[in-house]
Amino acid sequence: MNDTLIKLSLFGLFVLFFVVRAYHHHKAVTQGGRIEYREKNLTALIVFRLVGGLIWLTALALFFVAPQWVSWAAIPLPEWARWAGLALGYANLPLLWWIEATLGKNFSTVLHLREGHTLVTQGPYRWVRHPMYTSLYLLVVSILLTSANWLVGLPGVLSLTVIVLNRIDREEAVMIERFGDDYRQYMTRTGRFLPRWGVTKA
Ligand code: SAH
Repeated sequence: MNDTLIKLSLFGLFVLFFVVRAYHHHKAVTQGGRIEYREKNLTALIVFRLVGGLIWLTALALFFVAPQWVSWAAIPLPEWARWAGLALGYANLPLLWWIEATLGKNFSTVLHLREGHTLVTQGPYRWVRHPMYTSLYLLVVSILLTSANWLVGLPGVLSLTVIVLNRIDREEAVMIERFGDDYRQYMTRTGRFLPRWGVTKA
């Protein structure tokens, strides 16, 4: 019974996450200027996302409709840890909304610059340069905890790590290329993933 409730709530979390994402993506596409892609290898990223997404989707579909097929990958977590994961996931949604709304028309799921790109340094960006990546980490960790299953939880953690590690230095270089000393200055007062006064300095 509790397992069903946790699974339904996890499903709800996925739906809400995609609604938040799609809403801001749509806004950026319709309101932002012409896009200029800055990925090192856009095709590789697209293929990686497609393959990773497909594996993840299959694992999720099995988890929801045929859990006995993925039970071998179960993590023996206590039930409270699963609820804590769920709480983290839902608490993270308004945070993600705030971050994406602040980034506004400068938002894209791929490394880019837009015509009329502006440097965002307010809202959550006042303290952290990459709050969205932090928020996405919270999401994938919450999915890992809530699902209590490696097959369901690990693809998100791993693919996000690969994408962020591949992108972060280049993203900051692209920002410096466009905004020069304004971004360099901004880097001195912010942390990469957590505020500078936090435990982990960037
Ligand atoms: N790395 C940021 C943004 C992710 S969206 C975060 O984690 O919050 C990715 C796009 O955001 C990049 O293509 C880049 O063009 C843009 N971007 C990153 N930081 C920015 C900033 N401070 N102001 C405006 N655009 C930014």
